[in-house]
Amino acid sequence: MNTLPLFFNLNNKTVLIVGGGDVAHRKAVLMAKAQARMVVIAKNFDEDFINFLNQIGATYHQKSYEPSDLDTYQPAIVIGATDDHAVNVALHGDCQARGISVNIVDTPELCDFIFPAIVDRDPVVIGVSSNGKAPVLARLIRAKIESSLPSSIGKLAAKAGEFRAKVKDALPTITERRYFWESVFERALADRQIGPLDDELHSFIDQGKQGGEVYIVGAGAGDPDLLTFKALRLMQQADVVLYDALVSPEILELCRRDSQKIFVGKKRADHAKTQEQINELIVQYAKAGHRVLRLKGGDPFVFGRGGEEMLACQAAGVPYQVVSGITAALAAGSCAGIPLTHRGVATSVRFLTGCYQTNDAFDGLKSAYQPDETLVFYMGLHALPKIVDSLVASGLPSDLPIAIVSNASLPTQAVLTGTLSDIVAKQQADGVSAPAIIIVGKVVELYQPQKPI
Ligand code: SAH
Repeated sequence: MNTLPLFFNLNNKTVLIVGGGDVAHRKAVLMAKAQARMVVIAKNFDEDFINFLNQIGATYHQKSYEPSDLDTYQPAIVIGATDDHAVNVALHGDCQARGISVNIVDTPELCDFIFPAIVDRDPVVIGVSSNGKAPVLARLIRAKIESSLPSSIGKLAAKAGEFRAKVKDALPTITERRYFWESVFERALADRQIGPLDDELHSFIDQGKQGGEVYIVGAGAGDPDLLTFKALRLMQQADVVLYDALVSPEILELCRRDSQKIFVGKKRADHAKTQEQINELIVQYAKAGHRVLRLKGGDPFVFGRGGEEMLACQAAGVPYQVVSGITAALAAGSCAGIPLTHRGVATSVRFLTGCYQTNDAFDGLKSAYQPDETLVFYMGLHALPKIVDSLVASGLPSDLPIAIVSNASLPTQAVLTGTLSDIVAKQQADGVSAPAIIIVGKVVELYQPQKPI
């Protein structure tokens, strides 16, 4: 981080602007918004600018800048916006000598601070900066944020400020107050109707919203961009996060910063916690009044044992919701460029596992293989030879294409292709690593070994 974003209270502080053109005018408008006391010095002023300065009653002097101006006005900050480079450089040097922070517009090397692109929903203010590297990008990001924020959010924030003391009296614990404000602001951010805050507070108290709940959430295959909006929302409001080995650090990073994060990962033969212990933990935390996020790789209900966690919540009478995620088979197909169904090639898909509870190995297709279907194996890499033997024994042609997609959707994604007759040797020689999805069927012929953009 090259610069630290700070929000500077300029109310009643002096800002000196040197320059009388368009650029200086724009900065003066900004300074007026921030209620700064402004002094503007320029040899020549644009007429519009003079009109503006007269209108707001700011001080200005038509004269050349001199270093003594800094001593006369003792500004908190200085903005240099002349088109005379020598003046800008001198102004910068004079400020440095006096320890005054200065910004020479559009000259990053002469700036102690920079102006971000601003979203102004007073009292909510958002600044976006690329540290002068890509101002256009910063502006586009600002536009994106601008369009995703309901226009009423500033007014609501102002009202919330006035209402804080009342909430504090009505809800004695910090946790209760946080739940209340989250429930109000989340609905506001989703453009939903918010009643008068008094009514909101009463209905919150009536509902006894303090009880805990459980979110069983699919985090997708690994790429944070594949999270659902709903997953992200719940991740940002959970108090306790119980997460799996398959949840990437980048995704975990998006959970509420001060949430308690507990690793309950299960890797083959190395279970940090048994499923029963996980079920118990979920229920226990929820009953203690927490919002518990059970964050799982892929989709919770596809080889994820999310069903068992749901049943545990039901048995304990704990409220819960399940949020689907992009399961590994789908991510592997799309990220590797292998369609799982394809007109004229495959009309159905079967999701299988290479790891059964009973014997920890693939125990064969339960029903006959159809030549126009795609088989997708989860947890199959360790059992690849057994899977291949079993498929061939079931009558699948040994030249049937097969692909292993490892770390689908992640920067480390790798794909190994072959046929049922040579894939085991290829994997042994120059294999890919777990986690991996195995795709068997003619659709694999559509694979092009180039990196998607
Ligand atoms: N519920 C998860 C599956 C959990 S089982 C889901 O819906 O995706 C774990 C298996 O998922 C792994 O053994 C592997 O086969 C597969 N898997 C998970 N993430 C993967 C990834 N990024 N790339 C390839 N396979 C993955």
